[in-house]
Amino acid sequence: MNDCIFCAIAAHELPATFVREDDEVLAIRDVNPQAPVHVLILPREHIESVAELTPSQDGLWGRMLHVAQAIAEDEGIDETGFRLVVNTGKAGGQTVDHLHIHLLGGRPMTWPPG
Ligand code: AMP
Repeated sequence: MNDCIFCAIAAHELPATFVREDDEVLAIRDVNPQAPVHVLILPREHIESVAELTPSQDGLWGRMLHVAQAIAEDEGIDETGFRLVVNTGKAGGQTVDHLHIHLLGGRPMTWPPG
């Protein structure tokens, strides 16, 4: 947990472009954006992935989704549409082992994802 880059960003020990921040949830712009809007929504608490979520964290997960929804509105992509992505584990493409939701929008998305 101590060498987790998202924990360091949450503690303001590493720089990031913050979109929102409160006691529980923060949102930062992805350093390597894959769409005109690419924001990461993450809990302040270190949770490795969706695979580690417990029922006691249902409220936190719900809050993360509402933050994503609010940012989509702020970014003006709520009506055109957007994509939420939660890569989980190695085969799921997760590269940072701190739970996060990718909010992607501002361009048409294709399916299936790579
Ligand atoms: P994932 O591959 O799903 O674990 O997503 C990790 C995301 O974090 C990638 O899209 C990276 O571009 C992004 N990322 C890595 N380091 C940083 C950072 N210091 N600030 C913002 N985004 C980052």
